Amino acid sequence: MNTASWDALEQECRSCRRCSLCQTRHNVVFGVGNRDAEVLFIGEGPGEQEDLQGEPFVGRAGKLLDTMLEIIHLDRSRVYIANMVKCRPPGNRDPLNTEQDACAEWLDRQIALLDPKLIVCVGRISAMRFIRPDFKITREHGQWFEKDGRRLMAIYHPAALLRDPGKRPETFEDLKKLEETIREVCTHTL
Ligand code: URA
Repeated sequence: MNTASWDALEQECRSCRRCSLCQTRHNVVFGVGNRDAEVLFIGEGPGEQEDLQGEPFVGRAGKLLDTMLEIIHLDRSRVYIANMVKCRPPGNRDPLNTEQDACAEWLDRQIALLDPKLIVCVGRISAMRFIRPDFKITREHGQWFEKDGRRLMAIYHPAALLRDPGKRPETFEDLKKLEETIREVCTHTL
């Protein structure tokens, strides 16, 4: 792990003014977890609580994400969690393409430093950016895709699971599949 590069990247990111979300943010939500992780979870963007606390997935959906990690014997100290967009879109709207593009370099640099073996896209928007623009979460969640020598999977966003608990059994299966692949390809995650 290159601590100096991570610290420099975080410092640079925290002063970002590349799009107008910087005008309404309370905190840049850089990312959390193990900078040596083999598994990276990528969400969409910070909500109200994340913006206030400066950490990804700390609201209601975040608590459910923690439970999902626990199901496969993981926690925030063993994986890395980041968002596509580092600042909160007002009113929790979807991040605009221009905002996503302006922010993309931060996550690209995080991915380059982390060099994860597995990427889990948390929700449809993240899957559309990292797997395929026409990704269909209802049909393709839980499947592994290969890109740039890495395996990627999308799971339902915990906010979607809060809205529709009927999707939870499928997500349980997806998590078990993720755990199986972690055991297969990762050396220090589980
Ligand atoms: N939803 C996300 O996609 N990311 C967060 O950090 C919080 C909610």
